[in-house]
Amino acid sequence: MKLADTPVEKIDFFGHSVFVKRDDLLHPEFSGNKARKFRYFLDHDFPHVKRLISFGSPQSNSMYSLSVLAKLKGWQFDFYVDHIAKQILNANEGNFSQARHNGTNFIDLSTVSDRQGRSCSTYIEDLLSKEDETTLFISEGGHCDFAQYGVSLLAAEIVAWMKIEQLGQLVVFLPSGTGTTALYLATYFKAHDCPIEVMTCAAVGDSDYLKQQFSVLVGDTACFPTVLESGKKYHFGKLYYAFYEMWQRLNKTGIEFDLLYDPLGWIVLQSFLTRNDKRPVLYLHQGGLLGNASMLPRYRRKFD
Ligand SMILES: *Cc1c(COP(=O)(O)O)cnc(C)c1O
Repeated sequence: MKLADTPVEKIDFFGHSVFVKRDDLLHPEFSGNKARKFRYFLDHDFPHVKRLISFGSPQSNSMYSLSVLAKLKGWQFDFYVDHIAKQILNANEGNFSQARHNGTNFIDLSTVSDRQGRSCSTYIEDLLSKEDETTLFISEGGHCDFAQYGVSLLAAEIVAWMKIEQLGQLVVFLPSGTGTTALYLATYFKAHDCPIEVMTCAAVGDSDYLKQQFSVLVGDTACFPTVLESGKKYHFGKLYYAFYEMWQRLNKTGIEFDLLYDPLGWIVLQSFLTRNDKRPVLYLHQGGLLGNASMLPRYRRKFD
């Protein structure tokens, strides 16, 4: 299973050279940054654990990778969701259907009798207070400090590459969901005095929400990545023509990107590149291509 040491390629993007760190070439079952964030669980033994619990979107990359983790470890996997739309239930491709194939037990809270109006996260909190050491809980999207272990290995790979390329400075850019990957990269570079600035943008919620997510994991704001604004409000998971157009342009580089995070990432990066900052830029490809199987038909129906 390939979990580290991905290559870096140089692409031409609107007349700018950009390096791309190909974490999409990691093992497909741990889609990109999920391989990094969940690496800790792969490298360590959990002799008491019998069951894994998490919650979030029934289509997420993170949920799919956790289903693989549970399968590898022989754990039961209970995944709590707010509700599951019909077209997701009926899909036979994409994260949900693959996770179900891996034996994931989906608990749709819109159908349980003891919900009592609680939010998904409160419901889980109450549930976990009754659990024991045989249950392992991983918060939504892998937003947890266990992620630091694997993301630091990624950071070290970037530093080693930078030395070989003899680059004196570098900007590492990646779009964020929970911001966990960007945050632990920035924390590592700061702790090791590397001349690398991590830049990101908020694909889920706005920049303030993203910074709040950073502060749940790390207290020192000096370690936070730089958050660039997109200048326009995009809702996570919604379809935008600008995203589809960017995605199609990116395909011409010969590299397939994801349809949820990367179009926004490249839109924001494009505007940064026009600012004529002279530092070389490394874009982190964070995988997520299995999700395209459900996103692409939606885009095609809407815009083709
Ligand atoms: C999960 C994911 C992200 C977001 O990662 P965070 O660490 O939550 O910011 C970005 N891109 C892809 C393709 C992902 O699967």
